Amino acid sequence: MQRDRFRRVLAGRAARLGPVAILALAIALLATTASASSSGHHHPTITKQAFGSTPDGTAVDLYTLTNSHDMQVKIMTYGGIVQSIRVPDRRHKMANVALGFATLDDYIRTTNSPYFGAIIGRYANRIANGTFTLEGVTYHLPINNPPNSLHGGTVGFDKRVWAATPVSDQDSVGLELTLTSADGDQGYPGTLRARVLYTLTDKNEIRIDYRATTDKATVVNLTNHSYFNLDGEGAGTIYDHVLKLNASSYTPVDSTLIPLHGPGEIATVKGTPLDFTKPTPIGERIREPFEQLLIGHGYDHNFVLDRKDSTSLVLAARLSDPRNGRVLEMFTDQPGIQFYSGNFLDGTLVGTGGHAYRQSDGLALETQHYPDSPNHQGDPNFPSVVLQPNDVYRTTTVYKFSVG
Ligand code: BGC
Repeated sequence: MQRDRFRRVLAGRAARLGPVAILALAIALLATTASASSSGHHHPTITKQAFGSTPDGTAVDLYTLTNSHDMQVKIMTYGGIVQSIRVPDRRHKMANVALGFATLDDYIRTTNSPYFGAIIGRYANRIANGTFTLEGVTYHLPINNPPNSLHGGTVGFDKRVWAATPVSDQDSVGLELTLTSADGDQGYPGTLRARVLYTLTDKNEIRIDYRATTDKATVVNLTNHSYFNLDGEGAGTIYDHVLKLNASSYTPVDSTLIPLHGPGEIATVKGTPLDFTKPTPIGERIREPFEQLLIGHGYDHNFVLDRKDSTSLVLAARLSDPRNGRVLEMFTDQPGIQFYSGNFLDGTLVGTGGHAYRQSDGLALETQHYPDSPNHQGDPNFPSVVLQPNDVYRTTTVYKFSVG
């Protein structure tokens, strides 16, 4: 609008002033047109590039999703990994706020991978001793985090190559990823058909819709394991980030990070360093000698979200970085969220921008069902994670970026 008015004013003046002014006007008009196309109100786009291949020769693609505000998200078919998220700060300066690696090889070769940006399945978080019983049959899973099974086993969904289909409409672009996990894969029963739809909207949101079906009773708990640093990956710790969690209780854990059973399995955060019901800098209490923090080497806990019903999307977490104004709000329909303060990052991994990641250089907020729920069947405090052949598992989480 303003630009049009500017053009009309220029034209009026030029008509009065003659040929030299008309030439000047033409140059000015060209300049405003050029700036219109570079300062973006363009349609969202999605592009694809080859990103190497896995050791067995499967090709991996990297998709770049860009919205009309130039927010950019890169997602690869390996693990459905969100490799980078570029968002503006309050001065419109862009930075990649997601921890990750520069190359596919880094993702594949890193033993003890921290699951940067990956889709986690079939079961996000831990299952005690890698075993559970369902409908009278006991199942055994890989013990990849002794003595427990973590994030779906040795070759979880984070290490599989997903089939990808780009989708787009007027104000969003998306990538639909699908994967079939065979009956018995990593010890889990049932053929599980999973679909994850990532959508980048023009409201600077990444929406993640998960869907799964099975042909035999099974358990399922899918999430995304992005680590965030709102000052840019590699910029240092997240201690100054301010976190608010919409959770007045959590599931305390034993020394192997498995939730307790019985009285006390759901505990109030009140009076503890786990109370983030009011916005609090993460570093403020992380070194308090509170037993649960010592067990986790920092924050590594499932928070029980306060919600009125079990289905609507609620604001689960709000993370902000007062230094640059970036804000991340997370909405979910899930009952819990794992707040993990990057405790096991130890300075041995080099991130996308060439900096080593040290403890708390990023944090994960994983929307989920509670850890070890398959061993709490029938426990009214632990919502069910059992999926039956006639059911459809559906869940949605939204990461909304803004500045404040
Ligand atoms: C868990 C941590 C674990 C990390 C792996 C998180 O979801 O809560 O305990 O170390 O994933 O990178």
